[in-house]
Amino acid sequence: MIDTDTLRAKARGALDRCGVKDYDGDALSARSPVTGEDLFGIGGSGDVERAVAQARAAFLQWRATPAPVRGHLVKRLGELIHEHREDLADLVSIEAGKIRSEALGEVQEMIDVCEFALGLSRQLYGRTMPSERPGHRLMETWHPLGVVGVISAFNFPVAVWSWNTAIALTCGDTVVWKPSEQTPLTALACSALLDRAVAETGAPAGLHQLLLGGPEVGERLVDSPDVALISATGSTRMGRAVGPRVAARFGRSILELGGNNAAVVTASADLDLTVNAVVFAAAGTAGQRCTTMRRLIVHEDVADELIDRIAAAYRRLPVGDPFDGKTLVGPLINEAAHGRMRASLSQAAAEGGELLAGGERELVPDAPGAFYVRPALVRMPAQSTIVKEETFAPILYALTYSDLDEAIALHNDVPQGLSSAIFTRDQREAERFLSSDGSDCGIVNVNAGTSGAEIGGAFGGEKETGGGRESGSDAWRSYMRRSTSTVSYSEHLVLAQDVSFL
Ligand code: NAD
Repeated sequence: MIDTDTLRAKARGALDRCGVKDYDGDALSARSPVTGEDLFGIGGSGDVERAVAQARAAFLQWRATPAPVRGHLVKRLGELIHEHREDLADLVSIEAGKIRSEALGEVQEMIDVCEFALGLSRQLYGRTMPSERPGHRLMETWHPLGVVGVISAFNFPVAVWSWNTAIALTCGDTVVWKPSEQTPLTALACSALLDRAVAETGAPAGLHQLLLGGPEVGERLVDSPDVALISATGSTRMGRAVGPRVAARFGRSILELGGNNAAVVTASADLDLTVNAVVFAAAGTAGQRCTTMRRLIVHEDVADELIDRIAAAYRRLPVGDPFDGKTLVGPLINEAAHGRMRASLSQAAAEGGELLAGGERELVPDAPGAFYVRPALVRMPAQSTIVKEETFAPILYALTYSDLDEAIALHNDVPQGLSSAIFTRDQREAERFLSSDGSDCGIVNVNAGTSGAEIGGAFGGEKETGGGRESGSDAWRSYMRRSTSTVSYSEHLVLAQDVSFL
């Protein structure tokens, strides 16, 4: 088991190489869930008014910079992230507890989205529509929006920032970032790399601001009238507080909140593929992805076999130090997360659930302050109260069904609507799940698990997941304002709808 001194040295080395300077202080404490111990104190930077004012000043210059020139900045940022991918992955593992391949995967998402944003810088297309009036042209143009406030969660400490920041910068916006208070080191590293890219490409200084602090700093950002868009990623509880506050001042928001993602496994499913997909989606990242699979809705003909196979896989999963190459399941973020997992398992038992595998804490002598758990598989008699909640820990509830309508009804009967999957070899079943009366989620997969999205698609979900979309496809439009223009080249004034006047 790696020790805290080694983690501390690794963190300091990565920060130094990424160009982070003068970060020691006592405003916040950097901590690692790997050993559960504090690493070192860091200085805060929670002056919201100053950060927003500087980002606003930079916006006035940046919005007038041609979009393809803005693209040079995200291109350089992507190159610097690539150069420092090992450092960034180390910091992700240290602060969020991700295993190496997932930490590197998260960093790869940052590089991918920078590449996407570079291409986008030449494709911020508006439409031209036929005008109903002779001698007229009707068109729309997309303009930069303003300062974007990014609030991010601990579990994707760098990818979520990059999805928002690479797209916002390409769109001509400037960014103020309030990362999770649990992951300040990754934020310092990303911010330093972007500052370097800004300096090297001659972009306006101040175009990216970092605010370190807790929810109170986030609240001040949310209330700032000079922040045009708040993109907030985190729990539904946070979104319930943030959404109305932004709406009250007529700001815009993108809300990316909790999920309660399910897979429907039909009788025709390829069970070998399904077992692998379910175990990664449900147990990977120690169940701490917004897209983690939390519910399994299995046809009664294959339920016993599938559930037994998943239980067997759970018993074998290597749980432990994320720096050990053999580990597949790292730690929970903290003791509170472990408490919530225990409470949910107790409630599930009280609601008739049968614990088939896992749920116990591991590695207590090796890392007494850390919270490692064996992922839990619980067979439930019905979709009871606890199954409808997101517990941000590795608990998979298994339910059975006999008819696809019943499975889809169960699937959709939760407050959240982020990601979903069907495992089937029957095209009719797959198409039904993808159709308008199938899954009600923002992400709907066939023979692929609920987690592990690519950056090319728009990412987000419905209902209590918040409705926002980020990353690829046309999600960029949320970061811009649309102007609709009528241009007349007629010698006469022609009014729309044939109205006569004068
Ligand atoms: P969290 O809600 O505790 O915190 C998220 C961020 O919001 C932090 O930066 C926090 O300081 C800030 N915050 C909290 N309350 C706030 C308030 N009232 N005003 C302003 N800012 C506030 O979430 P977490 O524990 O860091 O992350 C786990 C949650 O995030 C899970 O529910 C998970 O599903 C969700 N999540 C969603 C997505 C998505 O894209 N849908 C992605 C990652 C995580």
